[in-house]
Amino acid sequence: TIGMIALDANGNLSGACTTSGMAFKMHGRVGDSPIIGSGLYVDNEIGAATATGHGEEVIRTVGSHLVVELMRQGNSPQQACEQAVKRIVKFTKNRGKTLDNIQVGFIALNKKGEYGAYCIHGGFNYAKYDSKGNELITGKSYLK
Ligand code: ASP
Repeated sequence: TIGMIALDANGNLSGACTTSGMAFKMHGRVGDSPIIGSGLYVDNEIGAATATGHGEEVIRTVGSHLVVELMRQGNSPQQACEQAVKRIVKFTKNRGKTLDNIQVGFIALNKKGEYGAYCIHGGFNYAKYDSKGNELITGKSYLK
């Protein structure tokens, strides 16, 4: 998935995402990216979030909507991404599955321009662009 979230000079939020789907997917599988609230969610009053990784896990938690709702409750974008990933970790463990073959990452941005990201396994980078230029940031992760 390529997910993009933006805050413009007038303070309006927007977002977009694409998806590569999953290797060896079942015919007709729909991932999280085309489902508003799962792979992408933007609320112009609060913030925006988008997801990458195993869409099934993101759909189970309506992940991007969850991230935005966590920001609505007062969490920073970073805290919101961390809580959403931890919810997925908990759901996965509750289903008796390990995290070995599951990767999910979120990025989030709020109305103030604060941003954050979090994923299950390390190695998730994201790019930030603002008036200072481009920056490649190594996202924090639940597991190393
Ligand atoms: N999230 C996508 C899907 O499950 C995969 C990706 O990250 O491109 O379809």
